[in-house]
Amino acid sequence: MEPIYCPTCGALNAGGSKFCVKCGAQLSVDNSQQKVTREYEHNFKSDGKAQSNSILLLILGWLSAAVSIFFIPIVFGGIGVALGFSERRVNTTQGTILIIASIVCGILGVIIGASVGSATYGM
Ligand SMILES: [Zn+2]
Repeated sequence: MEPIYCPTCGALNAGGSKFCVKCGAQLSVDNSQQKVTREYEHNFKSDGKAQSNSILLLILGWLSAAVSIFFIPIVFGGIGVALGFSERRVNTTQGTILIIASIVCGILGVIIGASVGSATYGM
């Protein structure tokens, strides 16, 4: 039997020991490894989910920003900014870029709308 190092305090215990002689922690190596693996998988899965949500938010945000140039800039620019703030919880950089882009597109939309309006109606 291989000697077991306590995962909690690092003390060396005789092979086959169930509990650490020094701190009393459980020495089931298999269990602790399974737990680590499960936690890792859990983190990986929730990261993956957050990642796909974040991509969806980005796509919707950029769509709103693009639409806001041509169509009701205040509404779609606002949606883009709101999605940007949600995105910031997962990805701060992308979220900030989206917020700025939405504001810029919204302002562009207002300017384009105003100039199209004045050209159409001769104002
Ligand atoms: Zn120990």
